[in-house]
Amino acid sequence: MSTFDVIVLGSGPGGYVTAIRASQLGFKTAIIEKENLGGVCLNWGCIPTKALLKSAQVFEYLQHAGDYGLQAEGVDKDFEAVVKRSRGVADGMSKGVQFLMKKNKIEVINGYGTLKSGKKVSVKSEDGKETEYSAEHIIIATGARSRELPSLPQDGKKIIGYREAMTLSEQPKKMIVVGSGAIGIEFAYFYNSMGTEVTVVEYLPNIVPVEDEDVSKQLERSFKKAGVKIMTSAEVTSVDTTGSGVKATVKTSKGEEVLEADIVLSAVGIKTNIENIGPEDVGIATDRDKILVNDYYQTNIPGYYAIGDVTPGQALAHVASAEGILCVEKIAGMHVEPLDYGNIPGCTYCSPEIASVGLTEKQAKEKGFDIKVGKFPFSASGKAKASGASDGFVKVIFDAKYGEWLGCHMIGAGVTDMIAEAVVARKLETTGHEVLKAVHPHPTMSEAVMEAVADAYDEVIHL
Ligand SMILES: Cc1cc2nc3c(=O)[nH]c(=O)nc-3n(C[C@H](O)[C@H](O)[C@H](O)COP(=O)(O)OP(=O)(O)OC[C@H]3O[C@@H](n4cnc5c(N)ncnc54)[C@H](O)[C@@H]3O)c2cc1C
Repeated sequence: MSTFDVIVLGSGPGGYVTAIRASQLGFKTAIIEKENLGGVCLNWGCIPTKALLKSAQVFEYLQHAGDYGLQAEGVDKDFEAVVKRSRGVADGMSKGVQFLMKKNKIEVINGYGTLKSGKKVSVKSEDGKETEYSAEHIIIATGARSRELPSLPQDGKKIIGYREAMTLSEQPKKMIVVGSGAIGIEFAYFYNSMGTEVTVVEYLPNIVPVEDEDVSKQLERSFKKAGVKIMTSAEVTSVDTTGSGVKATVKTSKGEEVLEADIVLSAVGIKTNIENIGPEDVGIATDRDKILVNDYYQTNIPGYYAIGDVTPGQALAHVASAEGILCVEKIAGMHVEPLDYGNIPGCTYCSPEIASVGLTEKQAKEKGFDIKVGKFPFSASGKAKASGASDGFVKVIFDAKYGEWLGCHMIGAGVTDMIAEAVVARKLETTGHEVLKAVHPHPTMSEAVMEAVADAYDEVIHL
């Protein structure tokens, strides 16, 4: 039996990053993967969606070339080519992980892994052969898949999940997107930009419900202006797929409505991959579909750890990677601080983009903080005006007593690249005054952060 110091089960951004860090720390490491290296993120999530969204954005730019004094005639899309480009980007990224595994001398084991007691993993390869491997430390990083609701049974054709949504061979004319979290909203934006008639149905009163209410309202306005139909406080109770398209029954406060479309995209969350990997055989504690871990990602059974989407906590690629690094550094005996889940940025890459970190205004008030709120609209930003991107704003929330930066919420062009400023500032326990006195370059969208902070302290210049 091959023996390792560390075996990582699953090669998503949790698993492959963990394996690299383990190898850097001198551990003999193996990674087990049943599909392509890179997991959901590189193959079916973060990266291929961003490639699709880029095509949508370029298409929109070309359609609005006149706004910039340019002429672009005969602009059209080739849906198949857009999907092909996205798949190409994903394949390239997966090959990049292959290279990184080789570079870091990590053994890649292809096949379906099942946990065994005695710190072992059994791997079934495609030809049905089973091989056992053992390790001092086994790190479970098997991730998650699209969650299915009884009212929305995915058939992969008329009721689809995210995998099908990014590989459709034909562009639907009409689409219903159920769920307005990041995944639903990104696909709604993509398909609407490509010319599909999109209706978003959200159960809660606001779209992007985890975001600050001001951001939700701004996105709703921008989406409606772009032609997306939005139904909030609404629930799809059933979908009839017997005809040529779909008929979705939607329950709202006003009664029931039947929406007709070609396809329904179910974007109602994720379900973890823990069935059939055997946590129960080893005695690993789970709660609903999550593997329970402590601050260092140790399960209740010594030698077994879990990180990423398969554990509680935000289901995000950067969270999975950070957890994995922390987990192996702890195994290596390094002094590590538990991850601060209150300082994890969240981004949605529609247009306008959304980025946020920390408490929303509502949460800050509910927690009893006396707050100072500042807001700076991109309509007052020179760079935004010059770029033709004046939709949106930066909103900041400070604790009035000690100046702690409680939350930062942004909506606008390029804000997903701007949120890191707030993350670093919060990590360093920076106060508003220090942000204000840190000179920001002109003209940039990032000046809006400084101005929003200035607004919170009644020192705003450009409003
Ligand atoms: C459409 C979409 C867009 C997204 N966009 C973003 C984004 O922009 N930013 C962001 O931060 N997050 C995004 N996410 C979320 C992100 O993809 C996940 O949080 C991240 O991939 C989780 O990483 P992970 O390593 O925990 O698991 P995964 O990426 O799910 O990887 C798990 C791996 O384990 C393998 N595996 C499972 N069981 C076994 C087994 N028994 N044997 C062997 N291998 C196994 C799987 O095949 C898979 O490769 C998106 C998700 C989706 C679906």
